[in-house]
Amino acid sequence: MIILSGGTGTPKLLVGIKKVFKEEELNIIVNTAEDVWISGNLVCPDIDSVLYALAGVIDKNTWWGIKDDSFYTYNTLKRLNHGEPMMIGDKDRATHIIRSELLREGKSLTETTAVLARSFGIHDKIRILPMTDEPAIVSTMILTSEGELHFQEFWVAQKGEPDVFDVTFEGIEKAKPSEAVIQVLEKESDALVLIGPSNPITSIGPILALRGIKELLRWKIVAAISPIIGTEAVSGPAGKFMRAKGFEVSPYGVLKYYEEFLDVLVIDKNDKCPVNTGVDVLKTDIMIKKDRDSKRLALFLKRNIMK
Ligand code: GDP
Repeated sequence: MIILSGGTGTPKLLVGIKKVFKEEELNIIVNTAEDVWISGNLVCPDIDSVLYALAGVIDKNTWWGIKDDSFYTYNTLKRLNHGEPMMIGDKDRATHIIRSELLREGKSLTETTAVLARSFGIHDKIRILPMTDEPAIVSTMILTSEGELHFQEFWVAQKGEPDVFDVTFEGIEKAKPSEAVIQVLEKESDALVLIGPSNPITSIGPILALRGIKELLRWKIVAAISPIIGTEAVSGPAGKFMRAKGFEVSPYGVLKYYEEFLDVLVIDKNDKCPVNTGVDVLKTDIMIKKDRDSKRLALFLKRNIMK
């Protein structure tokens, strides 16, 4: 199975997927368009959430960062007039330091991610693949009532409040999917592609916008889990972004966004989605509050999609 992942929703689901599927079946392609260099280190929010979720150390209140972390370095830097654009915990920062040192030694982002996964004790058969090997080459920019803002500036500093008019991926035309990503999509020709319940526009969108990816997906069986329940995103700014891009904020809007290659959409048991769209719509409880919800959803996928 090939899983496309952003942060929050998909890492939540990975907790259950890890229990239900064999490790060697898991190839996780992760968004890197929100990556930023902060205080000399490369922060990869979505890769970090995937690593921490699979290692069982993620903070399950926020679904980013490491549980029980402290913020001594962040607070000390702030006192010394070096405010950082996002709160970085001390343990979390250790990941960024190791990643950046390895990158400076000449390792690729794919290799550094594999080293980190091993250090966190994640089974070495699980492949975590950054969408591209070029660090921070793509930046997600949000055109807002306050001007054009980097995604992190919009979401963290401005708390997602400004009106949104458009979302663009700066640098996407120069970015290449990593060799490992292309290889997994080409070689695992009969593997199912599962698009996790992440932000369609800013988490999955950049992966889809990389050269050649959509063409490869058209030949595969692609299933997605809706990150929208009812008429709202479960969390985060996905609703605002979908509206800005002209999509309805509903499971049907998600279907339309992925329409050109989507075969199956999993929506919430209380939601509706028009039939005769050419996409099979399956219903179940897709809200993940506890690990057991994640396992139940992973089992549902195994029984209903992998059969
Ligand atoms: P961001 O938070 O919008 O930047 O994007 P992420 O890719 O990190 O993931 C957030 C997405 O996950 C949002 O669109 C949420 O609606 C979705 N999400 C979070 N928790 C759940 C959940 O329990 N179930 C489902 N179906 N989606 C979820």
